[in-house]
Amino acid sequence: MAAAACSAVMILALTLLPSPDATATKTVRLKTNIAPQEPLVELAEELVEEQLAEAPAEPIATYQWQDEKVRNGDTLSHIFKRVGLNSKDVYDVMSGDGDVALLKKIHPGQTMRFAIEEQQLVALEYVMSRTDSLLIEREGDHYSADMQIKELVPYTSYAEGTIDSSLFLAAQKAGLSEGMTMELANIFGWDVDFVLDIRQGDSFRVIYQEMHLDGEKVKDGEILAAQFTNQGETFTAIRYESADRGASYFTPEGDSMRKAFLRSPISFARISSHFNLSRKHPVLHTIRAHKGTDYAASRGTPIKATGDGKVIFAGVKGGYGKVVILQHGQKYRTLYAHMNNYAKGVRSGARVRQGQTIGYVGSTGLATGPHLHYEFYVNGAVRNPVTVKLPHAEPIPKQDKDAFLAIAQQMVGQLSTYAAAMESEKVANLGQ
Ligand SMILES: [Zn+2]
Repeated sequence: MAAAACSAVMILALTLLPSPDATATKTVRLKTNIAPQEPLVELAEELVEEQLAEAPAEPIATYQWQDEKVRNGDTLSHIFKRVGLNSKDVYDVMSGDGDVALLKKIHPGQTMRFAIEEQQLVALEYVMSRTDSLLIEREGDHYSADMQIKELVPYTSYAEGTIDSSLFLAAQKAGLSEGMTMELANIFGWDVDFVLDIRQGDSFRVIYQEMHLDGEKVKDGEILAAQFTNQGETFTAIRYESADRGASYFTPEGDSMRKAFLRSPISFARISSHFNLSRKHPVLHTIRAHKGTDYAASRGTPIKATGDGKVIFAGVKGGYGKVVILQHGQKYRTLYAHMNNYAKGVRSGARVRQGQTIGYVGSTGLATGPHLHYEFYVNGAVRNPVTVKLPHAEPIPKQDKDAFLAIAQQMVGQLSTYAAAMESEKVANLGQ
């Protein structure tokens, strides 16, 4: 069993090619000597730790530094005085070359490091953040400042998990941060409702980056590829950054993970009345089709355009009250009724973007109370906004298609290679 596991790991090391952006990523190798009974969830963390052990050591500073923390109400003179320097030294530093003016922006909690030799200031480092600092050095009879920017090093890692009760808990167990979990939910949120659709046994796999500095994780990087299996259906997302449209997630075939329409024009709103073509109208008390979905929300709640489009009507229309109708390309139209008022700039002919506020919830027209009545039309026929199949947003641009497909194939391969390696570790551990 152990031999089998070892060979699987060997194959893995050979199969994992550096990702296309070879300069910005490092290939992960799985650890070969995992102790029996070691929980798999820790594997991802160990991968990172192993890489760190191989990271080159930082060059040793040549100055003897004395650190001073900036305190409340401190000025440069106060701090200089604490380390035995005087106002002439402050003056000399502030009349030096480079960005010395940055020293005027010190604030409590920051660190200033002094190198003093024979009562003379030879160097001063103003640590602005974990990555940025200003180094001021004495050159002959004057000072010169230089920005020092440490580059974060991305490390690629892998995590997987199976959901017992919530995505959040499973992701936490797999070692993913809260932010990373949110991002995962955002990527698949167009296909999976993480409140209503999640079932025990749903699972995920993620290849992601962590940004490191001096051998320590500083922040999350990007999710490069991910898979989510919901009720037996598997969705795969691949990150791709195009020159003109920025980064986005696509299916391995190059369709956008995003949809051209948001499912609902109000976030987290309760549906108070469903689409029903033979409903009794609550105000008119006659059988009258309910051609849309009602969302209960308090007066003034922002209403979002569900897709990019053009305002073809913004005004009062009978029972609809104040209503906005959007046209999305040739095929789709959406309608938002009973508005209290329109958002600024929303008038006939105006262009709107997906997610843009177009108006506010009200009860104008025939309405029993404040709510949004939302209709969705495909080729002129009214459809149920909750169940209508939503079209994908723009796919991978034509000129990027080949490059994308190559990356997608590689990432899909990596996802299964990692998963297989995890599985063989599991089998090996059981056998011991
Ligand atoms: Zn309605």
